[in-house]
Formats: sequence, structure tokens, C-alpha cells
Amino acid sequence: MERLQKILAAAGVASRRKCEELITSGQVQVNGETVTALGTKADPAVDVITVNGRTIGAEKKIYIMFNKPKGVITSASDPQGRKIVTDYLKGITERLYPVGRLDYDTEGLLLLTNDGDFAHLLTHPKHHVPKTYLATVKGVPHGTELDKLKDGVMLEDGMTAPAEVEYYDVDPDGKQAVISITIHEGRNRQVRRMFEAIQHPVTKLKRISFGGLYLDNLKRGLYRHLSKEEVEELF
Ligand code: URA
Repeated sequence: MERLQKILAAAGVASRRKCEELITSGQVQVNGETVTALGTKADPAVDVITVNGRTIGAEKKIYIMFNKPKGVITSASDPQGRKIVTDYLKGITERLYPVGRLDYDTEGLLLLTNDGDFAHLLTHPKHHVPKTYLATVKGVPHGTELDKLKDGVMLEDGMTAPAEVEYYDVDPDGKQAVISITIHEGRNRQVRRMFEAIQHPVTKLKRISFGGLYLDNLKRGLYRHLSKEEVEELF
């Protein structure tokens, strides 16, 4: 057990004197209880010590945007030895969770973080985080078929929620089209199944946006850290 101001100063919060002020002004909590007495002792290995809600000594949170190539598994390991996302994240030692998943054959924007709360929040169905994909499909769907996707189609696991759907590029010979689709759910293989439901199977799928963030010109197979502002916007 050590004096609280000593623990705080050792954790780099501020000088010992400033840490004493933080304590007496009621900005420090030990296991959720505000502590204002200077003599208070705590065990940094056991007690959760926070200053204005920030936990002392907690692992630094990192948030990454990755442009996943196709042919890569969104998982920490693969028994079949296929390429996994973390093969591309050399230099990052933190244990990362993907924020949702992309299929093996899907490419594009994938967020990864060691912040479990963040990952959970953004993938929870009740938050309806928008995700935009460019789907290359066989043939050119008719406007009325796209309307079905906009309104909701019946899949094995129920009706899909309304989606935003637009033509992005249409092949003049009618062999294929690229459709932009924004969904607010995250069911397994959802976009592929939605296009199967209108008989225009997907031949290529790329996620270009997640919760207001865009891939922009991040090259395939590369990653970048999100800025503080980008993370705050997502939360
Ligand atoms: N929908 C799909 O069908 N696949 C993905 O990877 C993501 C969304």
C-alpha cells in the first residue's frame, strides 16, 4: 500500500504537489469512490484508481483503420493457415479486436482496436452504425429491384432494415453494375445475401465507409491510426 499522491505521481499524472491538489479537490477515485483525504493509501496492483474518470496505468488505447485485401481472414488465427489481418499489422504489439468482420473475399475498411467497449458499442445492433459498400454484381439490377433492397428484403434470418442504395457505375454492355449500398445492420454475409435475393449475385465487395469514416486513399493492405477527433466522432 502506498500513498495515493505517490502512486499518481509515479504514474506520470502530475507532480506530487499537483497530485495532492487533484486529491483534495475531489478529482480522484479509488474503486469508484471519490477520495479527498491526503493520507489515503491504495495498492496500484489491485485498486482501480481514476483521475476524472481516466484509469491510471491502463493500457493505452489504440484505434486502427485497415484496408483489408480480399483473401484475408478477419481473425486472430486460422487453423488452415490462411492469411490473417494481424499479418499486416507488424509493429503493433497490443492485442487487437476487429470492430465487426469482413468476409474472406471482401475487401476494404476494417477498424481494429484494443478497446473492447468501443468494439462492442460500434457493433451492437441497437446503434445502427452505417456501413457503406461498393458491390459489383452480375447483370444490371432494375430500379424496382434496388427499391426492394431500399425497403427491405426477406432473408433466411428475417427482413432487412431499410438501406440506402444507388447506382455507382453501370456497364454499357449490361454484364455488370457497381451499386453503392449503406446498411445499418451487420448480419453475416448480409450484403451478398441481399443481392442474391434479387438474383444479382455479388462478384466483388468492398467496404468504403464505417460510421462516417472513409477509406479515402489508404492503400490496400496498409493501415493507419485514427486521430483523436475521429475516435471521438465514432463514440
Ligand atoms: N456483407 C457481406 O456480405 N460481406 C461482408 O464482408 C460484409 C457485409
